[in-house]
Amino acid sequence: MADRIYNFSAGPATLPYEVLTQAAKDIVNFNNTGIGLIEMSHRSKEFMAVAEEAESLVRELFSVPDNYKVLFLQGGASTQFAMVPMNLLSKGRTATYLNTGVWSKKAIKEAGLFGNVNVAYTSEESGFDHVPAPSDLTLPADSEYTYFVSNNTIFGTQYHEFPVSDAPLVCDMSSDIMSRKIDVSSFGIIFAGAQKNIGPAGATLVIIRDDLLSKTPDTVPTMFKYSTHADKGSMFNTPPCFAVYTIGLVMKWLKNLGGVDAIEKLNREKAALLYQTIDDSQFYKGHARTASRSFMNVTFNLPDPDLETKFIQEATSRELNGLKGHRSVGGVRASIYNAFPREGVETLVEFMKEFEKNNG
Ligand SMILES: *Cc1c(COP(=O)(O)O)cnc(C)c1O
Repeated sequence: MADRIYNFSAGPATLPYEVLTQAAKDIVNFNNTGIGLIEMSHRSKEFMAVAEEAESLVRELFSVPDNYKVLFLQGGASTQFAMVPMNLLSKGRTATYLNTGVWSKKAIKEAGLFGNVNVAYTSEESGFDHVPAPSDLTLPADSEYTYFVSNNTIFGTQYHEFPVSDAPLVCDMSSDIMSRKIDVSSFGIIFAGAQKNIGPAGATLVIIRDDLLSKTPDTVPTMFKYSTHADKGSMFNTPPCFAVYTIGLVMKWLKNLGGVDAIEKLNREKAALLYQTIDDSQFYKGHARTASRSFMNVTFNLPDPDLETKFIQEATSRELNGLKGHRSVGGVRASIYNAFPREGVETLVEFMKEFEKNNG
């Protein structure tokens, strides 16, 4: 690992080292078949076994009930912004959205192409520095679904209590999927681009309740119907083979570590180290309100933009990489997903204290 540095990138993001080294071997020669993993037919018995294992590990580790399908699709989370309303919303009908950042705004725009959108909550006026508590919300039951983003990657906010809705809950969990234990049965659809917490870019995990598969209008093209992929076990066409395989490896890594409960504990500890450093200082200021703080993306500012630039430059020279905040908010963002090591957080905390001493 001598050649590795700490990578705080928001996505694609750090993967476990043993996953990378295993993948590097298998790309060239998978299981001594003499064929590389990414050269193999997706219908070969070798790859079918890889895909089945990835799905069953996702089910096991995330406690996915039997009446849900687990799909590996393409097009990223952004394609889901359109695919959800394409399948569940039609002209004259309404879907409810909670607007807590850039990703929910993009999803709201897409939904408007298919039906009415009721934005039941927005935190835009305060710079998306928080998410609503259940008691802040009045959610209509006659909506086709209620849509929210569990972790706002750019702003560093996260729901610690999910909305309660009679309409099916649809959740973009791209940046906190499998980082904590959740009750899948309270959701209609959960989706996530793989590249933050569970694998490389290229696969989108979709977990969908069976009864929602039959709601799709006939006019929806085959590839965009959830039922197409559900009926064929995500093998209607060529799946994102390498990404699905790598998700399987990440799941094995997670299982060895003790599963979602164990990673949740580690994630909370990592985030607490950073938030404690921010709270103990007059120099660093967290972007998110305390109750909405994300355990995955820790966002903060320094007293002025010049100091932020200097901070990021010096951090980079110390092999603390990828700390620049998203271009829409500036400041610093430390993305510390499942595979990001605790030692990297400790190194950042030491650097923050030293930088404050020298520049505060
Ligand atoms: C990164 C991200 C997306 C976009 O994912 P793509 O796979 O690039 O389309 C959507 N939602 C959230 C919450 C994200 O963090």
